[in-house]
Amino acid sequence: MSETIMRYVPADPYWQPSPAVADSAASLLKTIATKADEVTASFEDEVRFYDPGENWSGVECSACGADAEEWWGDAMDAASADGFKDLNTEAPCCGGTVSLNDLRYIWPAAFGRFALEARNPDIADTTEEQDLKIAECVGTPLRKIWARY
Ligand SMILES: [Zn+2]
Repeated sequence: MSETIMRYVPADPYWQPSPAVADSAASLLKTIATKADEVTASFEDEVRFYDPGENWSGVECSACGADAEEWWGDAMDAASADGFKDLNTEAPCCGGTVSLNDLRYIWPAAFGRFALEARNPDIADTTEEQDLKIAECVGTPLRKIWARY
């Protein structure tokens, strides 16, 4: 059976909340995703890429809008070799300097060192108001990623 993960990641990929704040954000998410198998708040030492799994729908250059899928893999390899400390890369399509975190991921994806996750939440989606409440609780703007594996 495939798994669905609803995941919030800080818009700033290097940002992390305190453990106490992470706990209260997880408690809040539990009241929203009441049927989830599990709600977790996880910290990473290094920035990682939170991909949308089977929902992946491609990626476009944020500077010129061209399809970036062809060079994206190589740029990812180069950036990951250094633990994603630097997410900026030169886009071969137009020569612009773009952040891997700000490319147009057709289906949302994000880089980060912290994720708040609900596994198999069994809801269609959260409301904008709920998203804002969670962001307020975590204390920073968040991106929401629905992943399927
Ligand atoms: Zn471009």
